[in-house]
Amino acid sequence: MESKDVIKQMQELIRELNIHNHNYYVLDNPTISDLEYDRIYDKLLLLEKQSGIVLENSPSQRVGGAILEGFEKHEHMHKLYSLDKCQTLAELKQWLENTQNKLDKNADFTMEYKFDGLTICLTYDKGKLLTAATRGNGVVGEDVTAQVKTIKSVPLSIEFKGLLEVHGEGMMALSTLKKYNETAEDVLKNARNAVAGAIRNLDPKVTASRNLVIYFYDVNHAEDKTFESQEDMREFLRGQGFKVHNYFKVFSDFTDIEKEISNIDDIKSTLDILIDGTVLKLNKVPLRKKVGYTNKFPRWAMAYKFEAQEVTTKLLNVLWSVGRTGKITPLAIIEPVELAGATISRATLNNCDDILRKQVKINSYVFIRRSNEVIPEILGLARDTEDSKIIIPPDYCPSCNSHLVNDGVNLYCKNINNCPEQIMGRLVHYSSKNAMNLEGISNKTVDQLYKKLNVCTPADLYKISKEDFLNLEGFKDKKTENLYSTIQNSKICKLENFIYSLSIDNVGEKTAKDLAKKFETLEHFQHATFDELNNIENIGEITAYGVLDFLNTQYSVIDNLLNVGVKPQEYIKKNTGENYFNNKTIVLTGGLENYTRDEATKLLEDLGAKVSSSVSKNTDLVVAGEGAKSKLTRAKELGIRVIDEPELIKLIKLQTK
Ligand code: AMP
Ligand code: ZN
Repeated sequence: MESKDVIKQMQELIRELNIHNHNYYVLDNPTISDLEYDRIYDKLLLLEKQSGIVLENSPSQRVGGAILEGFEKHEHMHKLYSLDKCQTLAELKQWLENTQNKLDKNADFTMEYKFDGLTICLTYDKGKLLTAATRGNGVVGEDVTAQVKTIKSVPLSIEFKGLLEVHGEGMMALSTLKKYNETAEDVLKNARNAVAGAIRNLDPKVTASRNLVIYFYDVNHAEDKTFESQEDMREFLRGQGFKVHNYFKVFSDFTDIEKEISNIDDIKSTLDILIDGTVLKLNKVPLRKKVGYTNKFPRWAMAYKFEAQEVTTKLLNVLWSVGRTGKITPLAIIEPVELAGATISRATLNNCDDILRKQVKINSYVFIRRSNEVIPEILGLARDTEDSKIIIPPDYCPSCNSHLVNDGVNLYCKNINNCPEQIMGRLVHYSSKNAMNLEGISNKTVDQLYKKLNVCTPADLYKISKEDFLNLEGFKDKKTENLYSTIQNSKICKLENFIYSLSIDNVGEKTAKDLAKKFETLEHFQHATFDELNNIENIGEITAYGVLDFLNTQYSVIDNLLNVGVKPQEYIKKNTGENYFNNKTIVLTGGLENYTRDEATKLLEDLGAKVSSSVSKNTDLVVAGEGAKSKLTRAKELGIRVIDEPELIKLIKLQTK
């Protein structure tokens, strides 16, 4: 083949690949399978190898080349301004009204998320990506072109041929970060540091491995082109193939803005990206020129910052507690600190392995982030102090003093039947609301039951007489009567509650339900085989072994319960307690305002739904956002239920209450 034919063929393959790339990474809407993509990509690689020619905008240039020696300086075409900030709605109102008074009482403002990542400035000329740079001091930044090229949603070539400078924020999705940290040797502290570390890294292959995205929000310069409004700018960016976040609204009235900010505050923890506030901008570009800039920031934009979700504080001590399955967990005692409106003094560290990987020490400063759990989580080391001391895990159980066993990740006390903390932990768990719901049994009650009445196993609870109760502190006739009947009445119970109440390692509520669903009766469950367990969706090998181990070594726990008359009922297939989304096949189409495609997908999957990309007769529900077209039509033809975004949010809220 002549080289001009080879080039032509390569150009055609690149064009095709770029379209699929754009659909996948920018629009979150894949149009071919990974396998088909790889086939085309391999064809291109082969041509490149045979001919020795590599075109500039070839996707093969995205894998990251040689390690760089250092960062070159990059001088920005125009100064990159920072954003003025406020933290109260009163300040925001003041700014908005002042601006409207100066210009036009009805001037409208756009609202965008304030992305909490790393600012990136891209320059294109003649339709080609020339440079990518960090913000630096606003005048000079660092050249990170080789790194940014590896980010798949960033177009290497665009249609616009003039000189162009655009701004966006480099981000790492929280789900990507989580996945990365599951196997990483060095855990990344948080999404913001992860992005900065990935882009300001001399090895572009590291950047490539982190799967970053950049959301674009600003055109700083476009040769011979003017924009009317922020909307106009976003359209242009989208049209050129840049990734623009779906969330965008326009307001002119402060009361609407106030409401919207409260909405975002409500949903921000469900987003798959970090945002630390919202940004308001005068929508009309000609009006912006009238208010101008201070030497630090534009007067036409204002960031409203939410309360911090993350703080640093000193780690004072680590306590080791024994869980109901014998697992030893470290609990960090920290210097009390304000976090998202509450004062916190404890945080979790998960396990020994986590302490090692996160390199936190006693007397060091650590990053703490509010999580969905009750206790906030320590993300990693902020800095050591002179007094920093390595955390030494215990050799002996803090409760029963028996020798601990390390399974590689966690420490365990194997003294199952005689370890007080474990015994009491299992009784507390057995009685808890979502297990057997023995209302009236508090931690304090369990303490008395164990120490005074020698209640050690769940079955013992059913043997307590009314006289026994009356001998306990705080028990009078009525309380005794109530608790006694609560316990006796709990004998007829749901299978899933029963399984959950047993304290089997790694079997939480969801897994217990999956097990009940699969085996239907207790007897079947008791005879479960490894393959049966392992074949259940969402149950992995570790959990399967845990269940088998329990059934083989602690079968007496179940037998004793049966002997005192506990009767778990057969699992009823149509369980009314199930959430609406569970097992539904859902298709997302069109643009959503509050979520990206990935975020919505993750949320629905967490609720048990399957999210699929095409509408068929097996589809249960279609969520149609702005601009939904063919998939919406098809759904209507097939008579499938269609809902819009507000309805989706309402439904999600209902399920997650
Ligand atoms: P800060 O880093 O807190 O001083 O905030 C200013 C930075 O916020 C800017 O430099 C931008 O990089 C970033 N930013 C995040 N989201 C946006 C947005 N939607 N519009 C403009 N700037 C944004
Ligand atoms: Zn112990």
